[in-house]
Amino acid sequence: TIELKNISKEFKNSKVIDGMNLFVKAGEFLVLLGPSGCGKSTTLRMIAGLEEPTSGDVLIDGENLQKLSNDGHVIAMVFQDYALYPNMTVYQNLEYALKVHKVPKEERQARIESVLGTLNLTEYKDRLPSQLSGGQKQRVAVGRGMVKKSKIFLLDEPLSNIDVQLREKARDEIQNLHVMNQQTIVYVTHDQLEAMALGDRIAVMDQGIIQMIDEPENIYNNPTNLFVAKFI
Ligand code: ATP
Ligand code: MG
Repeated sequence: TIELKNISKEFKNSKVIDGMNLFVKAGEFLVLLGPSGCGKSTTLRMIAGLEEPTSGDVLIDGENLQKLSNDGHVIAMVFQDYALYPNMTVYQNLEYALKVHKVPKEERQARIESVLGTLNLTEYKDRLPSQLSGGQKQRVAVGRGMVKKSKIFLLDEPLSNIDVQLREKARDEIQNLHVMNQQTIVYVTHDQLEAMALGDRIAVMDQGIIQMIDEPENIYNNPTNLFVAKFI
């Protein structure tokens, strides 16, 4: 479970998250949907422990995030700007965290090869990130999160630069992983259709506030305010 209790976040006196409360059940697929600048990435970064709230608490399985030693086994994150290791090949980017966690070699190979295949990256496995296109880099970033099979998987606009056909395949694969590994997923997007297709629930955000959180069909059929109605 992920719990945000009355979280606020300020940057230089400007409040970007304003008293947010959120509870994500174990195994739930939650989509954070909202326009650019509304605070989606900031929210994910706080869940990952990469950014400290100005006030409020983040609880993972009921434990304060500060106490949790996140070695990537509990929480994996796909960054909006990819954040690949520049001096490692595609294969090494996927392998690094697994080595740190002492996943045995055969198991590492099996997981990596399967994910490379799924994301059509096998032929690029020996390239450096600088030798890849934007969409290829993004797929590596998604793959690096996938191979970890962590309990909680946070994805920040992971498919935004991937072309339509591959996007559907990658989307299916993320859903498969979620089902097979019972991962708890928080998935950020500003794409309404993607949110509808993926989410068990959708949290519609605007200006640092969750405007509505509900199942896709309720968001679509019974928006509780004008922002949600217009945005959807
Ligand atoms: P996008 O869809 O464009 O990625 P977002 O919803 O992810 O947007 P955030 O990146 O969370 O938005 O940013 C929310 C607000 O906080 C923005 O106004 C942004 O300019 C501001 N912000 C984010 N990080 C910082 C920072 N380190 N210092 C100052 N302001 C920041
Ligand atoms: Mg963002």
